[in-house]
Amino acid sequence: MEKSTFDLLVWLWTVIALIVFLALQFVTAPYGRHSTKKWGLTIPDRVGWFIMEVPALIVFFYFIFTGTAEKNVTVWIVAALYVIHYVNRAVIFPWRIRVRGKKMPLVIALMAVFFNLVNAGFLGYYTGSLNTHFTVTWLKDPHFIAGLIIFITGMAINISTDEKLIHLRKKKSDGYEIPRGGFFEKVSCPNFFGEIIEWGGYAILCWSLPAFSFFIWTFCNLVPRALSHHKWYQKNFPDYPKERKALFPYIL
Ligand code: NDP
Repeated sequence: MEKSTFDLLVWLWTVIALIVFLALQFVTAPYGRHSTKKWGLTIPDRVGWFIMEVPALIVFFYFIFTGTAEKNVTVWIVAALYVIHYVNRAVIFPWRIRVRGKKMPLVIALMAVFFNLVNAGFLGYYTGSLNTHFTVTWLKDPHFIAGLIIFITGMAINISTDEKLIHLRKKKSDGYEIPRGGFFEKVSCPNFFGEIIEWGGYAILCWSLPAFSFFIWTFCNLVPRALSHHKWYQKNFPDYPKERKALFPYIL
C-alpha cells in the first residue's frame, strides 16, 4: 500500500475515535461493573478478555513477520514493547482477574476485536513494512529515549494498579471495595491513567502516525470510562473520598 493511502486511512480511523469519544459521553461500555444483560448474548468475562485482546497479538505478528522493511534491532525492540503489553492484557490479565461467574455482552467483545484488529493492523503494517526511521541510530534519538521512559513508567503504573484492584476482591466474591493507598488517593482509575501514559510514551518513541492514532483511541476510550467509574464509586459508596479525582491527579 502507498504511504499516502495508508496515512489517509489512519487519519480517517482517528476521526472515528473522536466520534466514539462523543458517543461514550452518552453510553457506558457495558462490561465489568457496568455490565448489563440488555446488550444480548453474554460470555464469561475471562473468555471475553482473551477473545478481545488476542487478535491484537496475532495481527501484529502477521504484519511484522510478513513485512518488507529491514528487521533490525530497533524494529524488534519497538515490536517487543507492544507485544509485552498485549501478552499481559490477552493472557496474564484474564488469567489473574477474580470474576467468578461474571459475564460481558458478546457484542462488546466483538467491537473490541474490531478495534484491536484495526489498530494492530496499522501499527504492525507500519512497523513491519512502511517505517523508514527505525534505524539503529533511532535508539539514541531523544524521542526514542524519552518515549521509552514514559512508556515504561505508564506500564508500571498500569500493571501495579490493575494488580491492586484485582486483589481488592476476595477469591470467592464478586463485590467491590474502595481502593486506597498510593495513586488511588489521587484518582479513582490510576490503571487507566497508566495506560494512557504508556501509549503516549509509545507514540513518542515510535514518532509515527499509527502510534499517535492508537494513543488517541486509548484516550477516547478511557477518559469516559474513568468518569463513569468515578460516578459509580460516588453513587455506591457514600463515604467515597471527596478530594479524589477520576483520572488525572488534581485536574479531572
Ligand atoms: P477496571 O479498573 O474496571 O477493572 C480491573 C479489574 O479489577 C477487574 O477485574 C475488576 O473487576 C476489578 N476491580 C476494579 N475495581 C475494583 C474494586 N473497586 N473492587 C474490587 N475489584 C475491582 O478496568 P477495566 O476492566 O475497564 O480495564 C482493564 C484493563 O484494560 C485496564 O488496565 C485498562 O487500562 C485496560 N483497557 C484499555 C483500553 C484501551 O483502549 N487501551 C480500553 C479498556 C481497558 P470487574 O471487571 O468485575 O469490575
